[in-house]
Amino acid sequence: MKATVIGGGISGITTAYYLAKAEYKVTVVEKERYTGMVTSFANGSQLSASNAETWNSWSNVSKGLKWLFDETAPLRISAKPELAKIGWMARFLANIPNREKNTIETCRMALKAHDYYRAIADEEGVEFDRVEKGILHIYRKEKDLQHARQVNQLYKQAGLDRREVTAQEMYAIEPALQQSETAFVGGFYNEQDFTGDIHLFCRNLSKVLRHKYDVDFLKLPATIYDIDLWSDQGPVVICAGVESPVLAKAVGDKLPIYPVKGYSITLQDPVKAPWVSLLDDETKIVSARLGENRFRAAGTAEFAGKNYDIKHARIKPLLDWTQTLFPQMNTEYVTPWTGLRPMTPSMMPIVCQSKKNRNVFYNTGHGHLGRTLSAYTAKQIVDIIGKTQ
Ligand SMILES: Cc1cc2nc3c(=O)[nH]c(=O)nc-3n(C[C@H](O)[C@H](O)[C@H](O)COP(=O)(O)OP(=O)(O)OC[C@H]3O[C@@H](n4cnc5c(N)ncnc54)[C@H](O)[C@@H]3O)c2cc1C
Repeated sequence: MKATVIGGGISGITTAYYLAKAEYKVTVVEKERYTGMVTSFANGSQLSASNAETWNSWSNVSKGLKWLFDETAPLRISAKPELAKIGWMARFLANIPNREKNTIETCRMALKAHDYYRAIADEEGVEFDRVEKGILHIYRKEKDLQHARQVNQLYKQAGLDRREVTAQEMYAIEPALQQSETAFVGGFYNEQDFTGDIHLFCRNLSKVLRHKYDVDFLKLPATIYDIDLWSDQGPVVICAGVESPVLAKAVGDKLPIYPVKGYSITLQDPVKAPWVSLLDDETKIVSARLGENRFRAAGTAEFAGKNYDIKHARIKPLLDWTQTLFPQMNTEYVTPWTGLRPMTPSMMPIVCQSKKNRNVFYNTGHGHLGRTLSAYTAKQIVDIIGKTQ
């Protein structure tokens, strides 16, 4: 049977993979010239069950309000009135009581996805600058460390083995941190998480799909397609990131996805850069080493609509963070990037059949954890499709 995937980011490529494994004749429709060019291009590179905590909390709301007029703040909500943003925010607040349940579920999905990604990479020989050195969360303030201890109880319930470490132990785990004069109060470390380049993964898995699984790749301009034309021939899975609501609207469905902007910098030849991936909860910045030759720092969240402008005020905190923590690191060659996280108000991905067309399915809305969760949700949507055919 034929199946069509709309979108060639991480969610689309992993969906195409599991559809091909289930013996569908798959076509991937992508508006860009190559796969993995939009949000799945230069993200934080973490496959992180330890970043599963959903953002639905009153403390994040109060931080957002406090930072309203600070251009460089980790979380920034543009004051410009926008109906989509206001509606999304209201639903975000309504999901605060679900924070613990959704955090546990996200962590559980992430751990399963880790197994699936490792299996894909090993079975198919997909190279993506994978680094298996775990993730270290770093803290400067006792109150943040205390919060991390509470979150760790949720992660434990999901099966994540993350342990508290002293500042001295942090230096032993990642010696490059000794360059910094920053005073840490402690951290949390786990070895189950890992890192790797999302774009390389999409590109190299696409090659496997094309050559081994006979998947067709179609480049079409980003107009709204006649989805009925595809769905008459077999299942269609919409994996179009922040554009998914536009396609869903053409089907008659409504998806509550808002584009939450983030930034990254990629440094070439990063002598003296750390190898262990870091997560700094206070500044909302993550880092990863991408093989010998590249280092990436990424993060911050901006609610400012669909906008791809790269602003210096948002890039500067990433460079300052890198230079403060690693003053001996080479930061001469820096490439800035921005991307839009397809975020739902509950921060849970949308993995379901359409209400209007029984041959249309969604695997989208993965927000800040799309790289981490996609392999799991891709397998899940292919199982759902299997049950409906
Ligand atoms: C700064 C930043 C850091 C991040 N760090 C991490 C991290 O460390 N770990 C993690 O797990 N996640 C991270 N994320 C989140 C993750 O990158 C995203 O959730 C993920 O890339 C989303 O993938 P996607 O396939 O859903 O969307 P996309 O990658 O945007 O793919 C959607 C594709 O659909 C295509 N498309 C859209 N409309 C159409 C159309 N009409 N026709 C055809 N094609 C169409 C687009 O061109 C695009 O290629 C980060 C995000 C950002 C912004």
